[in-house]
Amino acid sequence: MANHLHDALFGRHDGSARDFLILPDGTRLSHAAFGDLAARYAGAFVAAGLKPGDRVALQLEKSPDMLAAIAGAIRAGIVFLPLNTAYTPAEVSYFVTDAGARLLLCDGRNAGALAAIAEGAGAALGVVNADGSGAFAEAARAAAPAPVAARRADDLAALLYTSGTTGRSKGAMMSHANLLSNAEVLVDYWRFTDRDVLLHALPIFHTHGLFVAINVALLAGCPMIFLPRFDADEVIRLMPQATAMMGVPTFYTRLLDDPRLTSDLARTMRLFISGSAPLLAETHRQWETRTGHRILERYGMTETNMITSNPYAGARRAGTVGFPLPGIELKVCDGEGRDVPEGEIGTLEVRGPNVFQGYWNMPEKTAEELRADGFFITGDLGRVDADGYVTIVGRGKDLIITGGYNVYPKEVELALDDLPGVLESAVIGAPHRDYGEGVVAVVVPEAGARLDEKTILDALAGGLARFKQPKAVIFRTSLPRNTMGKVQKNLLRDEVKAIFTT
Ligand code: AMP
Repeated sequence: MANHLHDALFGRHDGSARDFLILPDGTRLSHAAFGDLAARYAGAFVAAGLKPGDRVALQLEKSPDMLAAIAGAIRAGIVFLPLNTAYTPAEVSYFVTDAGARLLLCDGRNAGALAAIAEGAGAALGVVNADGSGAFAEAARAAAPAPVAARRADDLAALLYTSGTTGRSKGAMMSHANLLSNAEVLVDYWRFTDRDVLLHALPIFHTHGLFVAINVALLAGCPMIFLPRFDADEVIRLMPQATAMMGVPTFYTRLLDDPRLTSDLARTMRLFISGSAPLLAETHRQWETRTGHRILERYGMTETNMITSNPYAGARRAGTVGFPLPGIELKVCDGEGRDVPEGEIGTLEVRGPNVFQGYWNMPEKTAEELRADGFFITGDLGRVDADGYVTIVGRGKDLIITGGYNVYPKEVELALDDLPGVLESAVIGAPHRDYGEGVVAVVVPEAGARLDEKTILDALAGGLARFKQPKAVIFRTSLPRNTMGKVQKNLLRDEVKAIFTT
């Protein structure tokens, strides 16, 4: 038995002197140096008593050491769970306990706060700092490299906890085959080769920066410019050394705010990819005007890896997420899993080698969302047009039902965003005595624009059916977003929940 994920991602580069990581200060780490460190992390896991199938939790700053610990876990057959650095000790306690992790790796600054939590959860605590210091990082450097552990295709590689805006966060079980199949498809679809240089500014505790970006770079054998976080100045400074970037929409809007973004700055780039949240068609157009590049938008989620993508060579349509990737089936369904007629909106369901194995320790949740025939109910609402392009119209739970009519927030948001003086908007439902729910628009005006509720409502009146028109408009200077650029509608809903009832 082999370890195909390990061999595909790391095996081919073993001992290669070619660059793997390029750090912002110009330090370079070769595949050979990185592979050696990863093999020693594997050795340190084995020395700490971890066996294949055991779990290690990592709440670490993005760094070569965090990546080496992950690579070491894959090598030793240990299931890793990367945790958002923003999680509080109480939240970390839930993940470590739920996953039954035997080891928690953390930054030295948090060790005091996490010691009791690790002990309470029966896990050992190890310190790994971003600069490679810390007791566990040092133990890893001193450890003997561990051999590659044999793993089956359906053995677990990682538990990725979903961001969980409602209810408890769920641990999505990702198998070796789930990760490898998706990386293979993406390298091909997006035409990555060892001549690329990927500008990497995403966090690596989330599927986008972790599996999409890193696995693609590893499989293609291309180096990554590895930034600790997104910083517009740094991205602008380093872009002329790169050929590709993957980002969330906020990366693109922030870069557009900077006059240094020009087609000359992007002269070495061949591909800009966006995902994790909807990219406004306006951003797509502005980016093309400024840089000459059409952003390639794709769609995926933690549980499924990537599902659809705009084409590399064909038309990249703004506002759509393109076609189902090769080997992945996508259906638009009603509540019972039956296909809706072509072009109509329904819930997206997907099946393929990319789809996860279920939620860790949550068989009922798994049964609710993963059908017996293998289709996963994404919870996203969308439609497929006659040419096969998929458009996401929102999350199912964001659907507003007012007076018995369905209102898809995205449709109203697009109408609002088109109005002069509107920078962006979010549309939510609030409890309403007569209608059940009433439509509320949260509008962010452009700098200097003078907008009021009446101007907005008058401008919408001609274009949208009456039931879709907002019954209240409120103004904000920005929308609340999480680190992946998703608008946190749950916070907005909470804010306006009494707007029609008091
Ligand atoms: P996560 O599991 O954190 O990656 O979140 C996945 C969710 O992000 C999906 O279910 C979608 O609701 C949303 N999402 C991801 N990519 C896109 C996209 N290109 N356009 C619209 N929504 C997206």
